Amino acid sequence: MPLSSLDYLKEQLAELEEAGSAIHPKTLEGEQLPRARFDGRDVINLASNNYLGLAAHPRLKEAASKAAMEYGAGSGAVRTIAGTMTLHRELEKRFAAFKGAEDAIMFQSGFTANSGTVGAILTKEDVIVSDQLNHASIIDGARLSRAEIKVFQHKDVAAADQLLEETKRDGRRQLLITDGVFSMEGDIAPLPGLVEVAEKHGAIMMIDDAHASGVLGTNGRGTVDHFGVHGRVDVQVGTLSKAIGVLGGFIAGPSHLIEWLVNRGRPFLFSTSAPPGVTAACIAALDILEEEPERVERLWDRTRFFKEGLHSLGYDTGQSETPITPVIAGEDRKAQDLSRLLWEAGVFTPAIVYPTVAKGAARVRTIITSEHTEDDLSRALEAFRLAGRRLSLI
Ligand code: PMP
Repeated sequence: MPLSSLDYLKEQLAELEEAGSAIHPKTLEGEQLPRARFDGRDVINLASNNYLGLAAHPRLKEAASKAAMEYGAGSGAVRTIAGTMTLHRELEKRFAAFKGAEDAIMFQSGFTANSGTVGAILTKEDVIVSDQLNHASIIDGARLSRAEIKVFQHKDVAAADQLLEETKRDGRRQLLITDGVFSMEGDIAPLPGLVEVAEKHGAIMMIDDAHASGVLGTNGRGTVDHFGVHGRVDVQVGTLSKAIGVLGGFIAGPSHLIEWLVNRGRPFLFSTSAPPGVTAACIAALDILEEEPERVERLWDRTRFFKEGLHSLGYDTGQSETPITPVIAGEDRKAQDLSRLLWEAGVFTPAIVYPTVAKGAARVRTIITSEHTEDDLSRALEAFRLAGRRLSLI
């Protein structure tokens, strides 16, 4: 066979396999439900971000198909040329109101909302002060902006304060940025403290509420609402792909920020806008969020039930305070074994290992949704009991 210039990737893949960190995604056969079929196996699904069970909700499916029939399958252009549809603007207005902001702008994903916004509002003269566990899309956006990046210890408000103090220069802009709910730990940012520190230094305050929209606050309005710091966070990021159940991201903030992103948010300018079906389904999701607050309450009820079950089995769930509940196993191999035993027992929870989490802190990550029944969760807990005993974790 002729030698290919990409052959080095084969060697690198072999190294990943050897280290046990190669990724082989399982395939979902059917809808994203609490009980679902992956790779031919029926399992209790503790792996999705479908917090409120909206991904396969009949009203969203109906809205998506109706919009596709009325407006077509695709938008046909980027937003700034011919791809801004009435549905996009309707969704943006709805999200602005939901978040209590002047305006909002939709991106193709939460990832591009973060990376496109951080990259657009700062320059290489500026500085970004960022929590150590912030999402990859914030890190990429920070790199794209070419601003200086300073990382503070996870949730350490005093360290953020000190970094803002040390990096202050005349004419230099400072951005303090945090996830609202951290995706691997399931803990909540100390937003009131961070807001205070940002105000003290005149820094821009930005929060990525990917895992908090639809989960925290009244009707799932997010971390700002949860802590009652309305009007004190300049930029709120949300995703439409998790609790909202569809696909996309948005930024909510003052109208001059939104107008700036229309002009300088590169994914907005250079990548085709969301299809009508996606956008209409997101609007239907917002309707449900506003009409059915009991969905969020049920999510928290189920979360408490499952967490208490894990604790009474003797498991360590780290600092988790939300439906994202890591079950700490320690070494990478232990987490992989735990995930495998659970899978064999009909429970799907992926292992999260180094470098996604620190060495020695490997885990399986469980995510509860409002649609899991107590019976689903009791069965999952029984599988955790048996697997944990076998691996001497409990
Ligand atoms: N921020 C955080 C904290 C996330 O966990 C994710 C998704 N993994 C994103 C942003 C990106 O969102 P999306 O999947 O909509 O691109």
